[in-house]
Amino acid sequence: MDATTLEALKAPRTCPACEGKGFKTWKYSGDTSPCRSCNRTGTQPGLDVQALVDAIFTKRGKVKTFRKSFSSMGGWGTTLEARAHARAYYVWRLARAHGGKDVSIPANASTLCHGDAFKAELDQIAEAVAKIVFGTDMAAAYRWGALLRGVEAPAGLPPAAYPNGPVCDGEKPGDEALELGASFREACEAEGQTAFNFEPC
Ligand SMILES: [Zn+2]
Repeated sequence: MDATTLEALKAPRTCPACEGKGFKTWKYSGDTSPCRSCNRTGTQPGLDVQALVDAIFTKRGKVKTFRKSFSSMGGWGTTLEARAHARAYYVWRLARAHGGKDVSIPANASTLCHGDAFKAELDQIAEAVAKIVFGTDMAAAYRWGALLRGVEAPAGLPPAAYPNGPVCDGEKPGDEALELGASFREACEAEGQTAFNFEPC
């Protein structure tokens, strides 16, 4: 993304969830309810890509390191800060999925950014971050592709891209534990595996 594009992204956009009305109308009853995606304003704040990148990387001198842990917690809410946190968390979590660090369904992230006016851009950034940090953006696609469509992953991807590989690393934040599903956790525990960190971070 060039400087002009980055600047343009900072402009607010019409809320796609309510099409700028600030409320939603239920299809069958005709009742209305306030739109949570824009906090009833009809618009959503612009996307500050630099601030987002700064949030998901730590910086020591000139060295940037992708955060090992990043909580979804600050993203639940309707303030500007919560929206910015939700977007940063979405990119962090999706990058971990694409990069093969955690190919479980990113349920928190999807819920948090459902109806976000910048979802397409967030997906693009997540793919780019995965490529830069983990060297691939295809791990989750191949893991799920094998399951759903019988697609075979080529050699050379992270272990999580393959059917018998680990689903995630040991750094999965505790607030994402539900993404693994109780039955999955129980199966792992029965096998004596402790592949995940269930302690809240
Ligand atoms: Zn709205």
